[in-house]
Amino acid sequence: MEQWALGGKEPERIFEMVSFVEDTPSRPYNNTLLLGQDRHEHILRSVLERDYGCNVELATELVSFEQHADHVEARISKTVNGQEMLETAVFAYLIGADGARSVVRKQSGLTFLGESPPSVSMVTGDMDIKGIDKKYWRIWGGPSTNGGGPAVSLRPCETDDDRFNFYFMGSEEANEKILSGGRDAVIQGLKEITGRTELQFGELVWLGLWRPNIRMVNKFGEGRVFVAGGKLFSIFLKRTKLRKFVFRRCSCAQSPPADRE
Ligand SMILES: Cc1cc2nc3c(=O)[nH]c(=O)nc-3n(C[C@H](O)[C@H](O)[C@H](O)COP(=O)(O)OP(=O)(O)OC[C@H]3O[C@@H](n4cnc5c(N)ncnc54)[C@H](O)[C@@H]3O)c2cc1C
Repeated sequence: MEQWALGGKEPERIFEMVSFVEDTPSRPYNNTLLLGQDRHEHILRSVLERDYGCNVELATELVSFEQHADHVEARISKTVNGQEMLETAVFAYLIGADGARSVVRKQSGLTFLGESPPSVSMVTGDMDIKGIDKKYWRIWGGPSTNGGGPAVSLRPCETDDDRFNFYFMGSEEANEKILSGGRDAVIQGLKEITGRTELQFGELVWLGLWRPNIRMVNKFGEGRVFVAGGKLFSIFLKRTKLRKFVFRRCSCAQSPPADRE
């Protein structure tokens, strides 16, 4: 990773964000790999299909559910050729891994205590940028996210093109200005903070606000319905060795990645 001063002419330092560690038989994947969510989800879907015979249905959304003594009835909305279709399906159990705005959590009446501090936020997105190599993840300015910015991070995407993921770290007002200004504001922000007026900008693929959601449910299930997700999900699976159980029993309903928070 390269650290640059605002508008700097050369990097102040080059460092490893995460040190390389040799893989071992007990820890065969010891190192970090950064992937776009679309590619990551594609890999997970392929493994689910290949190793567990579980086909993830895209463009499919859980709308609501009803619990009974020995089953759960789920109402599901599917989009086929642009047409929305509603269907009802019956399952022994329902596990909602449906993110921070979980329909399953809300309908189960679970609380979500905690906070989403408004003063800590970043504006992030992907953009095609020419005129800068993809050798390093670079950051200009201080890595402060608490209003102390400005700073911007440009991380090359793993794709074989000019795509970069950016993070603007600045005050709430500065973030709001970029969000509402769209592509032009992103370009202006990148030029100002990096000092690289020669950069050429292509498509702005997406733009959004990142804000930490420091929250926890009061319990992980009610009757035959459970919730899973966040960081806890992976810890839970590792510790209890329930991975196979969850993968085999789960009904994989998933809406398109664009719905992701
Ligand atoms: C820009 C950004 C950067 C982040 N960086 C980090 C980081 O560095 N480290 C870290 O630990 N965490 C990070 N996070 C947070 C991390 O991504 C989340 O904690 C994690 O993805 C939560 O996983 P999840 O499985 O609970 O939910 P999600 O990953 O949100 O997955 C929920 C899935 O359910 C689907 N869904 C939602 N509603 C329905 C429905 N009704 N029916 C069917 N499907 C539905 C959604 O489409 C989505 O695919 C970051 C988040 C963002 C947005």
